[in-house]
Amino acid sequence: MAKKKTQKKSARKTTARKSPAKSVKKIAKKSGGKKSPAKVTRKGQKKTANGKMVYYFGQTRTDGDGSQKQLLGGKGANLAEMTSIGLPVPPGFTITTEVCDLYYKSGRQLPKGLMEEVHKNVAILQKELGKTFGDTRNPLLVSVRSGAAVSMPGMMNTILNLGLTDLAVVGLANATGNERFAYDAYRRVINMFGDVVMGIDHEHFEEAFTEIKRKYNAASDTDVPSQGLIELCDAYKAVYRKHTGEDFPQDPMAQLSLAIEAVFKSWMTPRAVRYREVDNIRGLKGTAVNVQSMVFGNMGEDSGTGVAFTRNPSTGENKFYGEFLINAQGEDVVAGIRTPQPVEEMDKWNARVYRQLLTIKKTLERHYREVQDIEFTIEKGHLWMLQTRTGKRTGAAAVKIACDLVKEKLIDEKTAIRRIPANDLTQLLLPSFEPRAKARAEVLTRGLPASPGAAVGKLAFTADEAVERTRGGEAVLLVRKETSPEDIDGMHSAVGILTSTGGMTSHAAVVARGWGRCCVAGAGAITIDARNRQITVNGKVFTHNDTLSIDGSTGEVMAGPVGTHAPELSGDFATVMKWADKYRILKVRTNADTPADAQRARDFGAQGIGLCRTEHMFFEGDRIQAMREMIVAETVEDRQKALAKLLPYQRGDFVGIFTAMKGLPVTVRLLDPPLHEFLPHDDASQAEMARNLGISVDKVRNRVAALHEMNPMLGHRGCRLSVTYPEILQMQVRAIVEAAIECKKARIDAKPEIMIPLVGTVQELSKLRALTEQTIEQVKRESGSSGKLDILIGTMIEIPRAALTADAIGEQADFFSFGTNDLTQMTFGYSRDDVNTFLPDYLAQEILEQDPFQSLDQAGVGQLVEMGVTKGRMAKKDLKCGICGEHGGDPASIKFCHKVGLDYVSCSPFRVPIARLAAAQAALA
Ligand code: ADP
Ligand code: MG
Ligand code: MG
Repeated sequence: MAKKKTQKKSARKTTARKSPAKSVKKIAKKSGGKKSPAKVTRKGQKKTANGKMVYYFGQTRTDGDGSQKQLLGGKGANLAEMTSIGLPVPPGFTITTEVCDLYYKSGRQLPKGLMEEVHKNVAILQKELGKTFGDTRNPLLVSVRSGAAVSMPGMMNTILNLGLTDLAVVGLANATGNERFAYDAYRRVINMFGDVVMGIDHEHFEEAFTEIKRKYNAASDTDVPSQGLIELCDAYKAVYRKHTGEDFPQDPMAQLSLAIEAVFKSWMTPRAVRYREVDNIRGLKGTAVNVQSMVFGNMGEDSGTGVAFTRNPSTGENKFYGEFLINAQGEDVVAGIRTPQPVEEMDKWNARVYRQLLTIKKTLERHYREVQDIEFTIEKGHLWMLQTRTGKRTGAAAVKIACDLVKEKLIDEKTAIRRIPANDLTQLLLPSFEPRAKARAEVLTRGLPASPGAAVGKLAFTADEAVERTRGGEAVLLVRKETSPEDIDGMHSAVGILTSTGGMTSHAAVVARGWGRCCVAGAGAITIDARNRQITVNGKVFTHNDTLSIDGSTGEVMAGPVGTHAPELSGDFATVMKWADKYRILKVRTNADTPADAQRARDFGAQGIGLCRTEHMFFEGDRIQAMREMIVAETVEDRQKALAKLLPYQRGDFVGIFTAMKGLPVTVRLLDPPLHEFLPHDDASQAEMARNLGISVDKVRNRVAALHEMNPMLGHRGCRLSVTYPEILQMQVRAIVEAAIECKKARIDAKPEIMIPLVGTVQELSKLRALTEQTIEQVKRESGSSGKLDILIGTMIEIPRAALTADAIGEQADFFSFGTNDLTQMTFGYSRDDVNTFLPDYLAQEILEQDPFQSLDQAGVGQLVEMGVTKGRMAKKDLKCGICGEHGGDPASIKFCHKVGLDYVSCSPFRVPIARLAAAQAALA
């Protein structure tokens, strides 16, 4: 009974298909990161949400659609969608991600009833194609493909030609009239199945192949005659038997069920788990399994296979972009075994198919209103679509494509803004090579411009080496023949990736582009000797100690370090920023403490400085000596004398910064770190300091010892310093006010705001506020300045107690700035400097979803922020509130800041454009 009900439901679903426009909207919404409501699964429950486990796609019927990525995986959902809009897709069916979830919940067992459902769908497929599994005249062959809701390139292996058996191979030879082809397909499936499903090392098959090649005197695989391949199949079956203790399964359904299980298993392999970790992919049910009837690109010179993007994924140029191989099966393009031709060349090979592809490009873009990344195969002149998905692109391409799609009226401004991953703008803001330095550089060779950027580093030859040396503070280029998913960590650590084989769609290229990491691929002139840690290019040898420079936009590989410079931004970038400014409500300020940084941030659109740290101003040149003099001073008078030496420096710094930011507010934070940070800790430096100050080494040592704290981050720092040493505050405030007056005289509109850090009680603030006001008045009087100086006095909210008592503190503050670095540290009780000892475990075990120092912990720390804003504004209705922690440049945190009604976020200069875009996305959410 129950079963009947399920069927009825699915039938209804098939007929009641949504209009394409509607499903597109739904896709956009889903990819916006919203999770589908999680079903609470009671322990022991062994059913999918609606009982349906398999979704068919084909001419007979199509059960799913493009909006069902969570359930059918990206690949499955889009195969269904493409089928529905009439594109040529080989029919098949998708086993849902819920089944994968069930597989793991039932202790790694295929759920009951699954294989019956699979049988039924195979029956439909057979009927639709007029082919039968295992048939001796015209056998059905399928591929078994994994595919989760989020694409993970190369993480889970596809098995092609499944269904071939000793009998069916004869059938395939009969049906195609091509015995060589049939046995070639058979040996491939024994190999793939053996490798992927049974875990037999590929090497063992390789050895058998080498032997056959030797016997037939064949230079390459393609030279082996039909008879050789027949023998090879026997040899492969022997390898299979030797390593598994069983025969290669001669029942296609048995092959299928083992393959399905293998796909589910691959979801939890270490490399898949690792990929999700690195890419922060969480909350997925598992992978779907796509079983799809085979088409063959390797049936002769009129067949082929390829991959393409509907627009250039590096630059965004609206030009069909891709590669294809004649007489090859799908995997061959990605694997980088043969070097493919650019897709434009296809016009010469088969103009009709090329035109058809161009039409499909248009159809797909109109339908998805988005750039697509496609896989296709041509079987004897007949084009088949095997995959489509949203094309990954660089930040530069994302900006251009968004602007172009608006011009083409496929999307509106708001959609364009939502589409550009704010973080990806970093890539546009990355440095490139300085043209003059580059003109002088020695270009060793040129590979493919796989992922733009400029990278300069020493050579690392393994992923581990790259990770380790990066950790040790070196900039390294990962140099590999090609990369594989095992190299993910090393690729992530390296400043750039250089490979000697593989195309624009090789693993290295795809992954690097996704991350915005600079990559040059397929630099064939480079010979890599990983064992001896050296490479040879045109007779020149470079070792792990040598530096190379690679240009991911041109593919050039250059000797030595080549100078880089800041990027030039295109007109499209300005357009996107203009749109963002139109929709955002949050203001964006920057964290900067030099005029150069301030100017850069201003160029990037910063609307003020949200955090100007003053401590660095005490380190440069002679300043550190005066600072140390102040620290060792034993009387107020001596301290004031030392501080007086610092005053002109500090005033000069402020004049520079106020000038760069003229007309815009500059929040200056008074001295924050504990004093011991300004003293040397090794003997030699202490001796030197003693000499410089003309005091005994003992005195230096004693002072260092006296300032030692068990817990410096919770120690004598922030406003506590000003309570003990008010003269420090007085000097700093004086420097700020004198600088403001000096600017005023030069008709520069300086807008300083004085920020008192690390306040935990209102008493601290009221005391220091009074002292600040007094000092301001005194300086004004002394300077005889009559004009008005509107200097706001505010505080940081970075101690939980300050947030809890924000109503009282608000009475004494003109503004709040949430210092979410310290606030996170103190709310979690995690030392920022030591958190990496356990954070990786916390992330791996999903105790934490993300590093709370990178993305604001909205549930905990966020509550304190929200409470601080609300209570603060109870005291002062219009209290200005901002954030100045690292979180101010993190899109997810910015969204939160928008939600709780902050006035601005403040972030590092390079993140200002990102914050502008993220703020607009928050406003449009
Ligand atoms: P990946 O996710 O690694 O790209 P795919 O499942 O897309 O894995 O498949 C790997 C290759 O096999 C692709 O080139 C694809 O086009 C090809 N392929 C998959 N299924 C079929 C099929 N039914 N017929 C022909 N080629 C296929
Ligand atoms: Mg694919
Ligand atoms: Mg702080």
